[in-house]
Amino acid sequence: MTDDTQPHDETADGQGDEHQHRVDGRSQQGDEHQHRVDGRSRQGDDHACSGCGPTPTDGRTATDGGTATDGGTAVDDGGDFEPIQVFPEAEDADLRPGADDCYKCSTCDTTCPVAEVDEDFPGPKFQGPEQWRLKRSEDHDIDDSISKCSNCMRCDSACPSDVPLSQMHNTARAQYVDDQMSKTSLTYWRNRLLANYGTMARLGSTFPRLTNAVMGNSLVQQVNEKVLGITAEREFPKFATETFRSWYAKRGGEATSVENARRAREARGEDPEADKRVAYFHGDYANHNTPEVAQALVHVFESFGYAVVVPEQRCSGTPMFANGMLEDARRAAKVNVESFSELVEDGVDVVCSCTSCSMALRQEYPELFSIPGTAKVAANTYDAVEYLRVNEDLDGELAAADVTASDVGVEEFAYHAPCHARNQGLDGQTVELLSQLDGVDAEDVGDSCSGISGTYGWKEEKYETSMKIGAEMFEHMEDADATTGMTECPTCAMQMEHGTGYEIEHPLQVLEAALVDGAGDEAA
Ligand code: SF4
Ligand code: SF4
Repeated sequence: MTDDTQPHDETADGQGDEHQHRVDGRSQQGDEHQHRVDGRSRQGDDHACSGCGPTPTDGRTATDGGTATDGGTAVDDGGDFEPIQVFPEAEDADLRPGADDCYKCSTCDTTCPVAEVDEDFPGPKFQGPEQWRLKRSEDHDIDDSISKCSNCMRCDSACPSDVPLSQMHNTARAQYVDDQMSKTSLTYWRNRLLANYGTMARLGSTFPRLTNAVMGNSLVQQVNEKVLGITAEREFPKFATETFRSWYAKRGGEATSVENARRAREARGEDPEADKRVAYFHGDYANHNTPEVAQALVHVFESFGYAVVVPEQRCSGTPMFANGMLEDARRAAKVNVESFSELVEDGVDVVCSCTSCSMALRQEYPELFSIPGTAKVAANTYDAVEYLRVNEDLDGELAAADVTASDVGVEEFAYHAPCHARNQGLDGQTVELLSQLDGVDAEDVGDSCSGISGTYGWKEEKYETSMKIGAEMFEHMEDADATTGMTECPTCAMQMEHGTGYEIEHPLQVLEAALVDGAGDEAA
């Protein structure tokens, strides 16, 4: 298999049995074999896995790394097994087995936030297995409504039959953009611009003050809405005057982090010479817009004795998947996988501060691309807080910390779990964690979607839907005994702030305030 857009085949990549199936059933560190974090495997037990049992014979491929279209085996006259080609060789991901697993229970439709507020949206069952079957007939176009799916992925984890809904949606959306969307339309170029936020951010960060002034001008916002269809209702996120990468380089790069971590290990009574490192996938937003979150991650990990390595990287691809720009996403994924897989080979785990980034590396890359090294990176990627809970006594250290609300700056947070955190089984961890701190609390504002879904809520024609979806979360935030919000996702944070006017923090910022002495002090 040479096409990177084909589903991932572990055996082709030579990954042996260090593979993964789905993210929401994470293995612990060191166990490189995982299925789903919630304990389910996509196809029950008959997955392709040298460690678990026989290769499946039903032709499934997409998530389990099995053979795409082997369609079963038969015994020939000589008694040898010969493959029988039941279905034609698939050019795209063979999602037939997933589609066949749908028994039309409609559970997915009842969890879809877009279907809840937009009666014209046919819902995930149609976007997934039904549309997939329809498009198998050559003259059938992808329905336009695929562009109304926000890629929140709630349907994906809701399906009791493990139908790979988000993979189907991503595949259908990409086909729709490739074959049916005019490449000269403003909508195409608007979506391309939003999907490639990193390019825009690199330009914006060159002259951040000027860019902030221009993008914050109401006239410019009106022009953006009229010409490009980017809503004028939202305030464009401000670029930091110094990017995270520039801050990291200025403080001495990896050498400083190694030294800070060595000192911390010494102070903690650990082996100062131990090789304790993590590779940080910061993504575009923490680099250009919220470097304080990325800096908090570095300080917190160093305080636990980890050197933080920051390899070359590009956008995780999340906005590209959501806009059907699969080729752009593949190019970004290739840079990321090649860059991080070298470190993973060296025993270094990957940590993310954004739950959509960890989602992309853990689930979407293996579902959509066959870039060598993808499975290893996926199997060794963690949400940053999750990583510390798995590998360190984070809860215990918080419980023992001599911290008051005035150290943290806030007594009560209104916490929203992003949909992509839910998909990774991480929705409860922040509230649990903060309950360890004396005098500081986080109140969960419910399981509704924030509604912004990355670039979705930035589109003029989707703004109203986005706000209707977010209404429940805004209401619960206002009902909570808190005036500061908290979430792991930067675009959920934008929506929370937009809907309530609250300031929003990342859990890592609270950990930094609680656990790190002199977080702003850098190594001499
Ligand atoms: S939840 Fe799964 S099985 Fe039920 S209708 Fe949706 S895709 Fe089909
Ligand atoms: S990904 Fe979200 S918006 Fe799209 S169909 Fe599924 S639940 Fe609905």
